[in-house]
Amino acid sequence: MESWKVGDVQIHRVVDLLMDMPTNFLFPQATPEQLLPLQSWLMPHFLNASADTMTVSVHTFVVQSGDATIVVDTCIGDNKERDAPNWNMRTSNFLDNLTERGAPREAVDMVLCTHLHVDHVGWNTILENDTWVPTFPNARYLIGREEWAFWEHEDDPFGKQAKQDSILPIVASDLVQFVETDHRLTDEVRLVPTPGHTPGHVSVLIESRGERAIITGDLFHHPLQFAHPSWQDIADVDGAIAEQTRLAFMQEYGDETLVLGTHFASPTAGHIVRDGEFWRFDV
Ligand SMILES: [Zn+2]
Repeated sequence: MESWKVGDVQIHRVVDLLMDMPTNFLFPQATPEQLLPLQSWLMPHFLNASADTMTVSVHTFVVQSGDATIVVDTCIGDNKERDAPNWNMRTSNFLDNLTERGAPREAVDMVLCTHLHVDHVGWNTILENDTWVPTFPNARYLIGREEWAFWEHEDDPFGKQAKQDSILPIVASDLVQFVETDHRLTDEVRLVPTPGHTPGHVSVLIESRGERAIITGDLFHHPLQFAHPSWQDIADVDGAIAEQTRLAFMQEYGDETLVLGTHFASPTAGHIVRDGEFWRFDV
């Protein structure tokens, strides 16, 4: 599934990159022995047949709310020098795919990064005449005040170059708007603070005509974390806070709310439901 309707709000997923990675790369405890008991709902979408690798999707959500076109997370981007070989100096048709989903560069009104890790800021900028310029010339770029206060003095361990080519050009532009972690974007779309993965991390709550959906951000990298919210995620800045936030998130958004995972492979969206002492993800 690539598109969803939540009340009057339309949401599209636009993929920048799909990656297969060992399950214990992000989650050291996620061995095949630990994962096989979860295979009935993790397979086939979220775990391969031998339970030792998984597909991680890097995608944008385009959210259409009233007249507003909102891009949530800007992935890896093109022409960027990165340490990871499959992230380095990419050329892709991502912008064409955005246009196909009703979000050509010029028509985007707001750009929101759930946090400022390298795989969430890349399409903030494109290269024009050897200069990094904002990709979306008519958008406001919503940057979390708390999030930037942290990264201003830190380098992203997964892509230290991203600040220079994808964040600083935005912060220095007149398109930037620093926002709080509970900022409201439209009548139907607002941020909710979900700290831990990073200090100013946010999720995006969509409420329209009695229906509700939430975009996770990287608080949940993978659905296996619904069953094991305490497992270490090597990318969490503060694992203890992230665990607390994951538990509270499942209490708040379990059962009723459509959950859209920021790195979940297709079908990407589903419901977190109680399964004995654990939670699982139903798609
Ligand atoms: Zn990420």
